[in-house]
Amino acid sequence: MEQDDWKERYKALSEDVDKLQVKLDEQPLLRLVCQMAVALDGQSELLDRSLKTLCEQIKTDKTGKPETVSLVEKQLRGLDLEQQQHRNELLHGLQKWIYQLRLNLTSDLSNERLSEIERTMAPFVGQLAYDSSLINDLVALQAPLLTDDFMGGRQNGILEELGHEDEELLQKIGSELLSLMSGLHIPPGDMSLARELVSRIERGISLSSLSGIIQDLVGLVARLSSHNSEDFEDYLLNLTGQLAEVQAFVEESQKDGLLSEETALLSSGVHSDVQSIQQAMLESQDLQQLKSNVSSQLQNIVVSVDLFKQKEENRERRLHERYQQLQDRLEQMEVQTQQMKVHMEAERHKALTDSLTSLPNRGGYDQQIASEFDRWKRYGQAFSIAVADLDLFKRINDSYGHQAGDKVLRLVATILTRQCRSTDFVSRYGGEEFVILMPGTTAEQAVVAVEKIRHAVECSPFNFHGEPVNITLSLGVAEVQADDSVDGLFGRADRALYTAKSLGRNRIELG
Ligand code: GH3
Ligand code: MG
Ligand code: MG
Repeated sequence: MEQDDWKERYKALSEDVDKLQVKLDEQPLLRLVCQMAVALDGQSELLDRSLKTLCEQIKTDKTGKPETVSLVEKQLRGLDLEQQQHRNELLHGLQKWIYQLRLNLTSDLSNERLSEIERTMAPFVGQLAYDSSLINDLVALQAPLLTDDFMGGRQNGILEELGHEDEELLQKIGSELLSLMSGLHIPPGDMSLARELVSRIERGISLSSLSGIIQDLVGLVARLSSHNSEDFEDYLLNLTGQLAEVQAFVEESQKDGLLSEETALLSSGVHSDVQSIQQAMLESQDLQQLKSNVSSQLQNIVVSVDLFKQKEENRERRLHERYQQLQDRLEQMEVQTQQMKVHMEAERHKALTDSLTSLPNRGGYDQQIASEFDRWKRYGQAFSIAVADLDLFKRINDSYGHQAGDKVLRLVATILTRQCRSTDFVSRYGGEEFVILMPGTTAEQAVVAVEKIRHAVECSPFNFHGEPVNITLSLGVAEVQADDSVDGLFGRADRALYTAKSLGRNRIELG
């Protein structure tokens, strides 16, 4: 039964197909739409659905409904735009690929082929036949590139990755390499190689040149470490430092004006030693030999400098001792000078002082009257003088003895000093004669002042062996006048004194 069912169903189905075939043959529009549905199947889900609907409508209505037709048209346009976008993306990707190939392919032939492909490809990209042949061409062009660099890329694991990176990464590697090189201590012998390497890196690294550059760089670094260059540079730096110190010492000595014979010798010695060192550095091929040469030369310098320093120190010590001696001598002289000044002052005071009364003597008076005259001439300040003479003093000496006379003289000196103002100047002019200078005092004022003195002397309680002794003095007073002189002033006072004597003594007269 089951077999009969199956047979029935198959028969019905083949009848349907036959009917459909007849329908398709009868309706060319339906056939075209059905063929389109098959050809475009899978391009767009919406379009698939719309085409199916359109087929159904044509089958049933003989024509498609207008809205379904316009929907299909719209979706076909959308499909076209999408394809255009895919084409652009493909074109862009191919252009990038060509750009990268051109960067890395160096042969003229490859470059010409790449230019030609790039120039002509645009209109054809997206056409399956063209695309496949273009991709094959590019793969063929790329082949030598991959085989050249394949091993290098595998070795360091970088290039495979770089194959997909752009220029920026290569530039970054270039700048890293340059900074690595700037940190190297490159000996003069390798400088040209290093320069060449730097300019290669600066020109720009490509994938194909990268491995060569790295190999050269590794070679350079290997050679540097075999030279042990840092050790050598340290050594040279140290040497330069030591030489600079020696030079500074010599210059310092010269600056201090110590350019003695020894300094000149040292300077020339050091100079020739330094020249030897420079010569050894130029000639030497072997670092150890150079070190030992230079060390022995430096030792020479050190010995010379030490010897020189010792001599200089001895000289300096002697100079210091001499200086110390002179300093002591100077201090001694200063003390002596001070003592001498005090002594001279004492002597001068003594010379101007009367030993009996301790009043200024005639010399003291002469000095004082001279300066008083100067002051008067400069400031016009008036002053007066009084010349005092003990009355009949000879009789005192005669009566009581010379010592009693001296005592009277001392007593009168005390009274005169006490009675006068502090600004007045009292002196013993000679014998039993005294002169008083009174600054800022007119003749009339002076008369009043000396009257007190005269009175005080007259009233003094002098006695000798219990017997009162009467002592008086006479005074002549004079005030300085216009066009006056020291002698003129004194003369007028002295004459007034004699007038007082002649008029009976114990009195004052104005001159
Ligand atoms: P007059 O009143 O006229 O001045 O009479 P006088 O006796 O004072 O005058 P004179 O000139 O005749 O005598 C002055 C005396 O003063 C003479 C001298 O013995 C005395 N004389 C002078 N200097 C000193 C001295 O330093 N000591 C003593 N003891 N007497 C002196
Ligand atoms: Mg006298
Ligand atoms: Mg007298």
